[in-house]
Order: sequence, then C-alpha cells, then structure tokens
Amino acid sequence: MKCWCSCETMDCFHPEYSQCVSCGTFVSKKSTEPGYYDFDYYWQKRGRPDYIPIDQRAKDDFDNRIPFWGGQLKAIPGCTSILEIGSCHGGFLYYCCKDLGFIRLVGIEISEGTCDFARKTFGVEMICGEFPNVEINEKFDLVCGFDVLEHFPKPLDAMRKMKSLGEYVMVQTPCYRGEEMAFPHFKSDEHLFVFNKKSIKLMFSMAGLTIISLVRGAFPWDITMVGEVLVG
Ligand SMILES: [Zn+2]
Repeated sequence: MKCWCSCETMDCFHPEYSQCVSCGTFVSKKSTEPGYYDFDYYWQKRGRPDYIPIDQRAKDDFDNRIPFWGGQLKAIPGCTSILEIGSCHGGFLYYCCKDLGFIRLVGIEISEGTCDFARKTFGVEMICGEFPNVEINEKFDLVCGFDVLEHFPKPLDAMRKMKSLGEYVMVQTPCYRGEEMAFPHFKSDEHLFVFNKKSIKLMFSMAGLTIISLVRGAFPWDITMVGEVLVG
C-alpha cells in the first residue's frame, strides 16, 4: 500500500491503518464509495448515530467553526469570491457573504440531497459532484475545504485542483500529534488519510502552494492552513 506522497507504508500500532515510512501519514486500509456520503446516510446520521445531524450542525457551527474560519481570512484580505469544497449545509458561505463582504459564493457537495439542503437553508449556489472530478470554468480568490482532505482517495490530486481554481487555498484537517490510539480522528471508514504537521506541509509544497498561515483549528486536534499559489 502506497501513501498519497507515493512512498511505501508499513504496519503501525493501529490495526486499520498503515503508516508512510517517509511523511508519517496514516493510510486507511479501507476505501469509501461515493454513496457513503449520501445525505440521509451520512448527514442525517443514519449511518453515524453518534454524529450531530445536519440541521443542528447548521446552527451549532456558527458558535465555533464558522467564526474561527472567518477569523483566519484575516491572513488574506481583499478576497471577494470563494469556492468551498465539501461545503455541507453552506453556513460558512452564507457567513462570508453576510459578515465578510464576499460577493461570489459557490459550494460543492457530493450528494444532491446535501446540495438541496444548502440551497434551501442558506440560499447558496451549489454544484453537485465528486471533487476533484467536477468541471468548473471559473477562478476564485479563495478555494477552501474544511474537514474534507482526509476523505479524498487521492488528496494530492484534490489539492492540485483546488490550487488550479484559486489564488489562495485554505484547508483544515485533523492533525496527528502523537496521541496514538487516543487520537479521535482514526475513523478508517471515512478518514482515508490522517496527516501530521510535517505531511500536510509537504502536501502544500507538492501542490505548489506557499504557506502563509498555519494554526491549530476551532478544535485542538485540527490544523488550519492557508497557502498562496506559487507564481511561475
Ligand atoms: Zn507519505
């Protein structure tokens, strides 16, 4: 089994993951079908009984994640257009319009049901598709993805596509910091890659992005980074 960085992996303490010998990323031994992210199954918690359903998330996220991400945009003033990959209920896009002065907002979600929820709840423009296999003939000031990179079967391809669509790329993902089995984001059914600080920095570099901001996240196990597209 190969890592996203193309190096070899080896067995580690976690039975459901192997670990890259080079960058240390944990690579799930499982795979995920697109149907896993069906609106009812994934977001309405039928498949994940311990998760908060999407209508509650559409309220709760305004107390923590959304203002945190909004605060990180201070690193990149002057942006007015945003594309969010895996935009869930669309609340962050709505916040960017209402509180931050963005005028062009587009979200991408893999299931039509989730797109409909976002359109109805926050009135945001949504594209239904499985990123990065989505045709988008438009450039944005900012392309972001929060808690999505770890879900992609090919995260470097996704990062490169994000980079191709924007001037800045903002990502949040769980970041392993040596917690071993206590790390709460070893969820091998959906978190196909669990990154660490070194490996996520490597991904930005391999995607052609210069890191201009790196902080933890709204929650302590995360890492949130902004990269600027390298010129040339
Ligand atoms: Zn690796």
